[in-house]
Amino acid sequence: MTGEDPSPGRIIPRLYAAIGEALEQANASLEQIAGIGIATPGPLDSRTGVIFSPPNLPGWDHVPLRDIFTEHYHIPIYVENDANTAGLGEYMFGAGRGCRDIVYMTLSTGIGGGVITNGQIMEGASGTAGELGHMTIDWHGERCKCGNIGCLEYIASGTAIARKANVAIRSGSAEGLELLNFARTMLQHGSTVADRAALPTQGDDPATIEMRLPLPEPDEGDDLTSETPVQEPDEELQVNARTVSLAAEAGIPVARAIISKAAEAIGVGLVNIIHNFNPEMIILGGGVSRMGPMLMEPMLRIVHERAMKVPREAVHIVPAQLGINVGLVGAGALIYYHNKM
Ligand SMILES: [Zn+2]
Repeated sequence: MTGEDPSPGRIIPRLYAAIGEALEQANASLEQIAGIGIATPGPLDSRTGVIFSPPNLPGWDHVPLRDIFTEHYHIPIYVENDANTAGLGEYMFGAGRGCRDIVYMTLSTGIGGGVITNGQIMEGASGTAGELGHMTIDWHGERCKCGNIGCLEYIASGTAIARKANVAIRSGSAEGLELLNFARTMLQHGSTVADRAALPTQGDDPATIEMRLPLPEPDEGDDLTSETPVQEPDEELQVNARTVSLAAEAGIPVARAIISKAAEAIGVGLVNIIHNFNPEMIILGGGVSRMGPMLMEPMLRIVHERAMKVPREAVHIVPAQLGINVGLVGAGALIYYHNKM
């Protein structure tokens, strides 16, 4: 966890300490290490290892992370976007083993992706290729944080699902009230107490049915913690994507509608991916991807109805296999990837 102060001056020494601990636990010396792979939020230039102001890492403005680490360790250092590394991890050690062309998509607080074509991570001219969450789904839609209109992430991420549910609740409609009552009951039973540990999810064991969905981002007003008084006015109660998912499972119509709309939008996104990249496999990770049939069915129906026959028949859409450590596995995979091991 980055903690309260994620500035480079605080994080980098912690990384050094963690690497030291890992070496100690492995009873290994630095001379035995082929290299260090770093998975980090973008935007960044993987060729130079410079990180440019990631929105969730304040203070990381043009930080030459690769050079800083090289100076410290004097061994090969590889820096890559976290979605690309997760994709690489799944490609080399997870669901994508044996494939050459895969697309990895993580459906979480946000929506991200990594595209691997012919065994190579697609980087693009400035290293930003594969921003799957920011493909346009609704060109007359609302503005996303990235500046574009109607992005997939704005419509179908965990944050979007929570936002839509909270809008329904605030509307004062009978349907919204029903969802609010469900959320209140859950809160009274302590079932929706915010699970902070689940936040950075990239996907737990796919066999685990229990969902640990991302919470809305802090600016969305996540108040669904144990200290929220249940009797307070309704404006105080904010539901998260996990609550919406549980409500949908319990048959609350507005929750079902929100999830099914999100699923359709993701389905449209998959059609775009299939048409653009003709992948052998699309690997879905992240908490939202584990909502089960209520998400998968509308999503796959759209793919079936809309995708062109030849690339549709060539693609397998599968769940991620590596679980919550996919980023770590992917960071390690960078060494194999760059050295063609
Ligand atoms: Zn966007």
